[in-house]
Amino acid sequence: MIIDVHTHITPRMPQSLFDALNRKAFSATTLLRTMDKEGIDKSVVLPLSNPENRDMYMVAGSLETIRECAKYPDRLIPFYNLDPRGMLCDPKADLGALMRVFRDAGCQGIGEICANMPITHTLYQNLFHHAGEEKMPMLFHFTGRTYGAYGVRDSVHLPGLEKMLKQFPNSIFIGHGPAFWAEMSWDVERLTRESYPKTPITKEGRIWQLLDQYPNLYCDVSAGSGYNALVRTPEKGFEFLKKYSKQILFGTDRFSPGLPPPPIIALISDALKNKHITKKDYDNITHLNFNKITRR
Ligand SMILES: [Zn+2]
Repeated sequence: MIIDVHTHITPRMPQSLFDALNRKAFSATTLLRTMDKEGIDKSVVLPLSNPENRDMYMVAGSLETIRECAKYPDRLIPFYNLDPRGMLCDPKADLGALMRVFRDAGCQGIGEICANMPITHTLYQNLFHHAGEEKMPMLFHFTGRTYGAYGVRDSVHLPGLEKMLKQFPNSIFIGHGPAFWAEMSWDVERLTRESYPKTPITKEGRIWQLLDQYPNLYCDVSAGSGYNALVRTPEKGFEFLKKYSKQILFGTDRFSPGLPPPPIIALISDALKNKHITKKDYDNITHLNFNKITRR
Protein backbone atom coordinates (compact mmCIF):
# COMPACT_ATOMS: atom_id res chain seq x y z
CA MET A 1 0.00 0.00 0.00
CA ILE A 2 1.38 3.39 -0.99
CA ILE A 3 -0.28 6.63 0.10
CA ASP A 4 0.98 9.86 -1.46
CA VAL A 5 0.38 12.56 1.18
CA HIS A 6 0.91 15.53 -1.13
CA THR A 7 -0.95 16.16 -4.40
CA HIS A 8 -3.06 18.97 -5.83
CA ILE A 9 -5.75 19.15 -8.50
CA THR A 10 -6.92 22.12 -10.56
CA PRO A 11 -10.48 23.45 -10.37
CA ARG A 12 -12.90 23.03 -13.24
CA MET A 13 -12.66 26.23 -15.27
CA PRO A 14 -12.62 27.33 -18.93
CA GLN A 15 -9.58 26.35 -21.01
CA SER A 16 -8.96 30.04 -21.73
CA LEU A 17 -8.23 30.62 -18.03
CA PHE A 18 -5.72 27.76 -17.95
CA ASP A 19 -4.06 29.19 -21.06
CA ALA A 20 -3.92 32.68 -19.59
CA LEU A 21 -2.27 31.36 -16.43
CA ASN A 22 0.03 29.07 -18.39
CA ARG A 23 -1.29 26.09 -16.42
CA LYS A 24 -2.50 22.68 -17.54
CA ALA A 25 -5.68 21.10 -16.25
CA PHE A 26 -4.98 18.35 -13.70
CA SER A 27 -8.31 16.85 -12.73
CA ALA A 28 -9.05 14.11 -10.22
CA THR A 29 -9.38 11.61 -13.08
CA THR A 30 -5.98 12.61 -14.50
CA LEU A 31 -4.50 12.26 -11.01
CA LEU A 32 -6.00 8.76 -10.72
CA ARG A 33 -4.63 7.74 -14.13
CA THR A 34 -1.16 8.92 -13.08
CA MET A 35 -1.43 7.06 -9.76
CA ASP A 36 -2.37 3.85 -11.62
CA LYS A 37 0.63 4.20 -13.90
CA GLU A 38 3.02 4.74 -11.00
CA GLY A 39 1.62 2.22 -8.53
CA ILE A 40 0.19 4.69 -5.99
CA ASP A 41 -2.87 3.34 -4.18
CA LYS A 42 -4.20 6.51 -2.54
CA SER A 43 -3.46 10.22 -2.65
CA VAL A 44 -4.11 13.05 -0.24
CA VAL A 45 -5.39 16.04 -2.20
CA LEU A 46 -4.33 19.35 -0.65
CA PRO A 47 -6.37 22.46 -1.47
CA LEU A 48 -4.75 25.89 -1.64
CA SER A 49 -6.82 28.60 0.01
CA ASN A 50 -4.31 31.16 1.20
CA PRO A 51 -4.26 34.40 -0.84
CA GLU A 52 -0.46 34.12 -1.13
CA ASN A 53 -0.70 31.52 -3.89
CA ARG A 54 -4.33 30.49 -4.48
CA ASP A 55 -5.02 32.33 -7.71
CA MET A 56 -1.56 32.22 -9.28
CA TYR A 57 -1.35 28.41 -9.02
CA MET A 58 -5.05 27.87 -9.74
CA VAL A 59 -5.24 24.82 -7.49
CA ALA A 60 -8.67 23.61 -6.30
CA GLY A 61 -9.81 25.02 -2.95
CA SER A 62 -11.31 23.05 -0.07
CA LEU A 63 -14.88 22.74 -1.37
CA GLU A 64 -13.95 21.60 -4.86
CA THR A 65 -11.35 19.20 -3.45
CA ILE A 66 -13.98 17.63 -1.18
CA ARG A 67 -16.44 17.33 -4.06
CA GLU A 68 -13.93 15.67 -6.40
CA CYS A 69 -12.48 13.32 -3.75
CA ALA A 70 -16.00 12.20 -2.77
CA LYS A 71 -16.33 10.60 -6.22
CA TYR A 72 -13.38 8.27 -5.48
CA PRO A 73 -13.51 7.68 -1.73
CA ASP A 74 -11.32 4.57 -1.93
CA ARG A 75 -8.50 6.41 -3.68
CA LEU A 76 -8.55 10.13 -2.86
CA ILE A 77 -8.37 11.69 0.61
CA PRO A 78 -9.19 15.39 0.93
CA PHE A 79 -7.52 17.72 3.40
CA TYR A 80 -9.10 21.02 4.40
CA ASN A 81 -7.12 24.21 3.99
CA LEU A 82 -7.95 26.41 6.94
CA ASP A 83 -6.32 29.83 6.76
CA PRO A 84 -5.81 30.91 10.40
CA ARG A 85 -7.20 34.34 9.41
CA GLY A 86 -10.33 32.65 8.10
CA MET A 87 -12.70 33.43 10.94
CA LEU A 88 -12.55 37.23 11.15
CA CYS A 89 -8.83 37.26 12.01
CA ASP A 90 -9.82 36.49 15.58
CA PRO A 91 -7.14 34.84 17.75
CA LYS A 92 -9.93 33.31 19.82
CA ALA A 93 -12.08 32.12 16.89
CA ASP A 94 -13.56 28.66 17.28
CA LEU A 95 -11.68 27.12 14.38
CA GLY A 96 -12.61 23.72 15.80
CA ALA A 97 -16.20 24.30 14.67
CA LEU A 98 -15.02 24.63 11.06
CA MET A 99 -12.70 21.64 11.42
CA ARG A 100 -15.58 19.45 12.58
CA VAL A 101 -17.74 20.48 9.61
CA PHE A 102 -14.97 19.69 7.13
CA ARG A 103 -14.00 16.48 8.91
CA ASP A 104 -17.60 15.31 8.63
CA ALA A 105 -17.33 16.07 4.91
CA GLY A 106 -14.39 13.64 4.67
CA CYS A 107 -11.29 15.76 5.35
CA GLN A 108 -8.57 13.97 7.30
CA GLY A 109 -6.17 16.84 7.95
CA ILE A 110 -5.35 20.48 7.33
CA GLY A 111 -3.12 21.87 4.60
CA GLU A 112 -1.23 22.76 2.64
CA ILE A 113 -0.85 25.63 5.09
CA CYS A 114 0.76 28.55 3.24
CA ALA A 115 -0.22 31.75 5.12
CA ASN A 116 2.93 33.88 5.25
CA MET A 117 3.00 34.74 8.96
CA PRO A 118 5.49 33.82 11.69
CA ILE A 119 4.82 30.32 12.99
CA THR A 120 4.50 31.76 16.50
CA HIS A 121 1.81 34.27 15.42
CA THR A 122 -1.18 34.37 17.74
CA LEU A 123 -3.54 33.37 14.88
CA TYR A 124 -1.37 30.35 14.06
CA GLN A 125 -1.33 29.38 17.75
CA ASN A 126 -5.12 29.34 17.71
CA LEU A 127 -5.02 27.01 14.68
CA PHE A 128 -2.51 24.69 16.39
CA HIS A 129 -4.62 24.56 19.53
CA HIS A 130 -7.80 23.58 17.70
CA ALA A 131 -6.03 21.14 15.36
CA GLY A 132 -4.70 19.37 18.46
CA GLU A 133 -8.13 19.27 20.08
CA GLU A 134 -9.75 17.94 16.91
CA LYS A 135 -6.86 15.53 16.17
CA MET A 136 -6.36 16.95 12.69
CA PRO A 137 -2.74 16.69 11.44
CA MET A 138 -1.39 19.84 9.76
CA LEU A 139 0.85 19.93 6.67
CA PHE A 140 2.98 23.08 6.27
CA HIS A 141 4.99 24.72 3.56
CA PHE A 142 7.89 26.52 5.31
CA THR A 143 9.54 29.73 4.18
CA GLY A 144 12.05 32.17 5.60
CA ARG A 145 10.95 35.17 3.54
CA THR A 146 8.35 37.80 4.34
CA TYR A 147 7.90 38.90 0.74
CA GLY A 148 8.00 37.00 -2.53
CA ALA A 149 7.11 33.71 -0.84
CA TYR A 150 4.29 31.72 0.71
CA GLY A 151 4.34 29.48 3.73
CA VAL A 152 4.59 29.52 7.48
CA ARG A 153 7.57 31.67 8.40
CA ASP A 154 10.45 30.74 10.67
CA SER A 155 14.10 31.72 11.16
CA VAL A 156 17.25 29.72 10.48
CA HIS A 157 17.29 26.56 12.64
CA LEU A 158 13.50 26.76 13.14
CA PRO A 159 13.31 28.16 16.68
CA GLY A 160 9.63 29.01 16.24
CA LEU A 161 8.74 25.49 15.18
CA GLU A 162 10.45 24.09 18.25
CA LYS A 163 8.53 26.47 20.50
CA MET A 164 5.23 25.42 18.92
CA LEU A 165 6.05 21.69 19.07
CA LYS A 166 6.68 22.11 22.79
CA GLN A 167 3.64 24.28 23.42
CA PHE A 168 1.21 22.05 21.46
CA PRO A 169 2.32 18.47 22.15
CA ASN A 170 -1.02 17.04 21.01
CA SER A 171 -0.87 18.76 17.62
CA ILE A 172 0.75 16.97 14.67
CA PHE A 173 3.05 19.17 12.57
CA ILE A 174 4.13 17.89 9.13
CA GLY A 175 7.04 19.88 7.67
CA HIS A 176 7.64 20.41 3.96
CA GLY A 177 9.24 22.94 1.61
CA PRO A 178 12.73 24.34 1.00
CA ALA A 179 13.10 26.27 4.28
CA PHE A 180 12.23 23.06 6.18
CA TRP A 181 14.36 20.63 4.19
CA ALA A 182 17.38 22.97 4.03
CA GLU A 183 17.67 22.14 7.76
CA MET A 184 18.78 18.61 6.84
CA SER A 185 22.29 20.02 7.29
CA TRP A 186 23.43 22.35 10.06
CA ASP A 187 25.13 24.87 7.76
CA VAL A 188 21.93 26.60 6.68
CA GLU A 189 22.32 30.09 5.30
CA ARG A 190 19.67 32.73 5.26
CA LEU A 191 19.99 33.37 1.55
CA THR A 192 20.11 29.78 0.31
CA ARG A 193 17.40 28.23 2.46
CA GLU A 194 14.72 28.93 -0.15
CA SER A 195 16.56 26.76 -2.69
CA TYR A 196 17.89 23.22 -3.03
CA PRO A 197 21.33 23.25 -1.39
CA LYS A 198 23.73 20.84 -3.05
CA THR A 199 26.55 20.99 -0.52
CA PRO A 200 27.22 17.75 1.38
CA ILE A 201 25.83 17.24 4.86
CA THR A 202 28.80 17.67 7.16
CA LYS A 203 26.83 18.05 10.39
CA GLU A 204 23.30 16.75 10.96
CA GLY A 205 20.89 19.63 10.79
CA ARG A 206 18.10 20.98 12.93
CA ILE A 207 15.38 18.61 11.72
CA TRP A 208 17.33 15.61 13.04
CA GLN A 209 17.28 17.18 16.51
CA LEU A 210 13.63 18.17 16.33
CA LEU A 211 12.53 14.70 15.14
CA ASP A 212 14.55 13.20 18.02
CA GLN A 213 12.93 15.41 20.61
CA TYR A 214 9.36 15.88 19.41
CA PRO A 215 7.19 12.86 18.52
CA ASN A 216 4.53 15.28 17.22
CA LEU A 217 6.80 16.34 14.33
CA TYR A 218 6.57 14.53 10.98
CA CYS A 219 8.06 15.33 7.61
CA ASP A 220 6.80 15.02 4.06
CA VAL A 221 9.54 14.03 1.59
CA SER A 222 7.66 15.38 -1.43
CA ALA A 223 8.81 17.86 -4.07
CA GLY A 224 12.30 18.88 -5.12
CA SER A 225 13.08 20.02 -1.59
CA GLY A 226 12.38 16.66 0.09
CA TYR A 227 14.13 14.67 -2.63
CA ASN A 228 17.16 16.98 -2.63
CA ALA A 229 17.52 16.67 1.16
CA LEU A 230 17.70 12.88 0.81
CA VAL A 231 20.19 12.76 -2.07
CA ARG A 232 22.62 15.61 -1.35
CA THR A 233 24.66 13.11 0.69
CA PRO A 234 23.08 9.78 -0.26
CA GLU A 235 24.31 7.75 2.73
CA LYS A 236 22.99 10.41 5.13
CA GLY A 237 19.68 10.30 3.25
CA PHE A 238 19.36 6.55 3.78
CA GLU A 239 20.40 6.92 7.42
CA PHE A 240 17.69 9.56 7.85
CA LEU A 241 15.01 7.37 6.23
CA LYS A 242 15.90 4.51 8.53
CA LYS A 243 16.34 6.49 11.73
CA TYR A 244 13.10 8.46 11.38
CA SER A 245 10.97 5.93 9.51
CA LYS A 246 8.23 6.40 12.11
CA GLN A 247 8.00 10.16 11.37
CA ILE A 248 8.43 10.30 7.59
CA LEU A 249 5.54 10.46 5.10
CA PHE A 250 5.88 9.60 1.41
CA GLY A 251 4.68 12.32 -0.98
CA THR A 252 5.20 13.67 -4.49
CA ASP A 253 3.65 17.20 -4.61
CA ARG A 254 2.30 16.48 -8.09
CA PHE A 255 -0.02 19.04 -9.65
CA SER A 256 0.59 18.84 -13.40
CA PRO A 257 -0.09 16.28 -16.12
CA GLY A 258 2.43 14.68 -18.46
CA LEU A 259 5.52 14.80 -16.24
CA PRO A 260 7.94 11.91 -15.67
CA PRO A 261 7.41 9.98 -12.41
CA PRO A 262 8.73 11.97 -9.44
CA PRO A 263 12.17 10.53 -8.50
CA ILE A 264 11.15 10.06 -4.86
CA ILE A 265 9.15 6.98 -5.96
CA ALA A 266 12.25 5.16 -7.23
CA LEU A 267 14.34 6.43 -4.31
CA ILE A 268 12.06 4.87 -1.68
CA SER A 269 11.59 1.56 -3.54
CA ASP A 270 15.32 1.28 -4.30
CA ALA A 271 16.08 1.98 -0.62
CA LEU A 272 14.01 -1.10 0.22
CA LYS A 273 15.41 -3.21 -2.64
CA ASN A 274 18.99 -2.40 -1.68
CA LYS A 275 18.28 -3.00 2.01
CA HIS A 276 18.99 0.55 3.16
CA ILE A 277 15.63 0.33 4.94
CA THR A 278 13.58 -2.65 6.16
CA LYS A 279 10.11 -3.63 4.91
CA LYS A 280 8.76 -2.27 8.21
CA ASP A 281 10.48 1.10 7.60
CA TYR A 282 9.07 1.12 4.06
CA ASP A 283 5.55 0.37 5.27
CA ASN A 284 5.80 3.08 7.92
CA ILE A 285 6.88 5.69 5.38
CA THR A 286 4.47 4.69 2.62
CA HIS A 287 1.27 4.32 4.65
CA LEU A 288 1.40 3.25 8.31
CA ASN A 289 2.50 6.65 9.63
CA PHE A 290 -0.27 8.35 7.70
CA ASN A 291 -2.84 5.93 9.07
CA LYS A 292 -1.49 6.50 12.58
CA ILE A 293 -1.80 10.30 12.52
CA THR A 294 -5.20 10.39 10.83
CA ARG A 295 -6.87 7.76 13.01
CA ARG A 296 -6.01 8.99 16.47
ZN1 LIG B 1 2.20 21.37 -2.62
